[in-house]
Amino acid sequence: MPDERPRKSKGEKVRVPFRRNRSPKKRDKDWTGRGRDAEGHDVEAARIESVVPKGDISRQRTIIVGEERPAGEVHRGVVVAMRGLYANVDDGTKMVACTIRRILRTRLIDDRGAIAVGDRVGFVIEPQGAAKNKETEGVIESVEPRTGQLQRLAGRRVQTIAANVDQAIIVSSAGQPQPKPHLIDRYIISAHAGQMKPVICMNKIDLDSDGFASEKLVRYEHLGYRVLRVSATTGRGIDTLRESLKDRTSVIAGQSGVGKSSLLNAIQPGLKLRIGEVHGQTEKGTHTTTTAVMLRLDIGGYVVDTPGIRSFDLSLISRDELEAYFVEFVPLVEKCRYPSCTHVYEEECAIKDAVGRGEIHPDRYATYLALFEESS
Ligand code: GDP
Ligand code: ZN
Repeated sequence: MPDERPRKSKGEKVRVPFRRNRSPKKRDKDWTGRGRDAEGHDVEAARIESVVPKGDISRQRTIIVGEERPAGEVHRGVVVAMRGLYANVDDGTKMVACTIRRILRTRLIDDRGAIAVGDRVGFVIEPQGAAKNKETEGVIESVEPRTGQLQRLAGRRVQTIAANVDQAIIVSSAGQPQPKPHLIDRYIISAHAGQMKPVICMNKIDLDSDGFASEKLVRYEHLGYRVLRVSATTGRGIDTLRESLKDRTSVIAGQSGVGKSSLLNAIQPGLKLRIGEVHGQTEKGTHTTTTAVMLRLDIGGYVVDTPGIRSFDLSLISRDELEAYFVEFVPLVEKCRYPSCTHVYEEECAIKDAVGRGEIHPDRYATYLALFEESS
């Protein structure tokens, strides 16, 4: 595709080329490299990303050029915190406080919503920017296409809480609160919907002397999911958990009381606190924030910290896509008599038959039915 972006726009009215660029098709391609369905889901992201040749991806990364574009070098980094129109960007060695180029902001909001933590951005260091606002050093010029994302429904809008999340660590507890497979299922489904890899982690395994809780996870192992059995108290399995977080971006999900904070603390003592301080420096001492922040691990990688968001938003999932997120259903659905079988009402349904034969766990099917009822 010819590159029509206004590379050399000095002295030129920027608006004209941008308008020309605003046809929806081109915008999708140039901005995020993926489509959305009617509800704004990014269900296609992983697939489209994976089929785009490397060269295309790097071309997509070159984004906005403003009229007053500084000649400076473009640096790369990850947004770790947002406050209003300001972003803290981690460039791998330090935090850079950034504003967002106005035209980029407008366009992003039109296109897919604002910048979120986890977004990979290109920014320039702008000395005159610093003069205008002592707090900032850089200006974000571009945003890379997103992969997995954590989203929720805010009113009727889909809001991205965190972008480029690789995996969801789904924490349950072998003690109190009791493990609830239907809840684990729900977390798995929403992880799939957000293109995050689910990792099932049972904490408080020290309390499971009879193995009763642990046994509830065997079904997930059979489905091919990664299952970890750990204890924040005794340290069992913590090295394995830490290793699975290394160099990835993870969200830690699970009911209150399962031990998420204890696990984070076992992985890296003081993680939250220390990051809070770094955060405070660029945010005038405040570290109370309502949006998600990314906690950086010493070993590499990030953990998304989402205050006030305890569970994933399943209301984002449509009825049609539901079956695709039950991995054991996928190879069977084509064997249902009716191509549009919902696996609820129909006769000669391969899913219901498999449940009858004991090949699909009845609890999993029950979760499917419950989610089917809830979705539309
Ligand atoms: P969160 O709400 O998920 O962040 O859970 P917390 O980290 O606050 O832990 C809830 C409670 O579980 C606390 O009283 C912890 O001491 C306890 N807890 C956490 N991990 C373990 C564990 O591995 N074993 C046991 N026995 N208790 C734990
Ligand atoms: Zn069926």
